Amino acid sequence: MLQTECVECGAAIELPEDVMQGEILTCGDCGAELEVIELEPLTVDLAPVEMEDWGE
Ligand SMILES: [Zn+2]
Repeated sequence: MLQTECVECGAAIELPEDVMQGEILTCGDCGAELEVIELEPLTVDLAPVEMEDWGE
């Protein structure tokens, strides 16, 4: 099991060892969606959020 930190709240996040680049993880603590942007070294960043249509 690999581990990284949520960039939003700093909580530890566990990843399967066969995690793929581009995979989206959800922080169990704050609910942030994190994208695996690099495997070596393991780096995650906030996933691009699909914008809701704010029109009326
Ligand atoms: Zn978090």
